[in-house]
Amino acid sequence: MLRNLLRAIYRSKPVQSIRLPKPLLHWLLADATLVLIYHEISDAPSPFHARHDLNHAPDVFATQLQALHEAGFYFCSLRDMQRGDYRRPAVFVTFDDGAPGFFDNAIPILRRHGAHAINFLNASIQDGAVFHSALTSWLCANRPDFIAHLAAAYGPDWDATKQSLPFLFATPELTQAYLDAHDRAAIERSVRADYGPGGAWEQIQRHQELSIIHYGNHTYTHANAAAVSPEFLAQDVARNQERLDALPQGTRWFSYPYGQPALCYNEATHTVIRNCGQERLFESSGRIHTGPVDGLIHRFATPTLPQSESGFLLWLAIKMAAQRWRSRRAD
Ligand SMILES: [Zn+2]
Repeated sequence: MLRNLLRAIYRSKPVQSIRLPKPLLHWLLADATLVLIYHEISDAPSPFHARHDLNHAPDVFATQLQALHEAGFYFCSLRDMQRGDYRRPAVFVTFDDGAPGFFDNAIPILRRHGAHAINFLNASIQDGAVFHSALTSWLCANRPDFIAHLAAAYGPDWDATKQSLPFLFATPELTQAYLDAHDRAAIERSVRADYGPGGAWEQIQRHQELSIIHYGNHTYTHANAAAVSPEFLAQDVARNQERLDALPQGTRWFSYPYGQPALCYNEATHTVIRNCGQERLFESSGRIHTGPVDGLIHRFATPTLPQSESGFLLWLAIKMAAQRWRSRRAD
């Protein structure tokens, strides 16, 4: 209730027109690298992207980049991030899952700003498989017996956390076992209709000459790294890397599928992934990254609702202030 009230106040015209002075913004975000996560950029997103709040309309995406540009934030290149020495506050734009709107709608906007971006791909999508994340989310929402199948497989380890976020624990093996025993073709048809086509190799190849666009590793299937065996994880990363190595803009940078702290990564998964030759690890805790960029890199998603440029900057300032306040309290 209080949250809704604050949201309504924040969205009101007078608040959206508050212009924070640039020096205040730069002071608040003095050691910050804003590592933004986007998924789909489209005026006609798939039901999956709309339902999970994973779509930014192209206008909303453009407004956010324009606001950061006008406010004097430094847009990092990949090389800047590798060296770690660049002017802050800085911005680095990332995408996960290689959705089709990235190629058709986001790239022209990124080019306008000369903004570098990396898209972390799951090559199983480009290979024509049904996207694991969409499949498990659909099964958890539509097939109660799928949850029972997971609970039975985990036995006494099926606890309250798993019960509340079952899709995170639906490993590819468990999901395929369920499909083998059920109406696979009909389920896959429903999931394809829900998720949409996914980005194609042909779209990736069409932009091969662009030096500002890069591709990273998000595992081949999009399995939760912390829920699968180390052997499966290593194979899932290596199989995806083979595909990335064939692209001129392929990198050895990795973003964790789902990316939530503790549930989706830990020290053991970092070791497996680094042993696969991955040089940079990105997560999705929703934190603003501050300080050096050689360890685990924090990312956050921006609001998907339309905002004014000044409204977006105000949101960022509040977010940074809240993060600093929380970490001071934790000290
Ligand atoms: Zn993802």
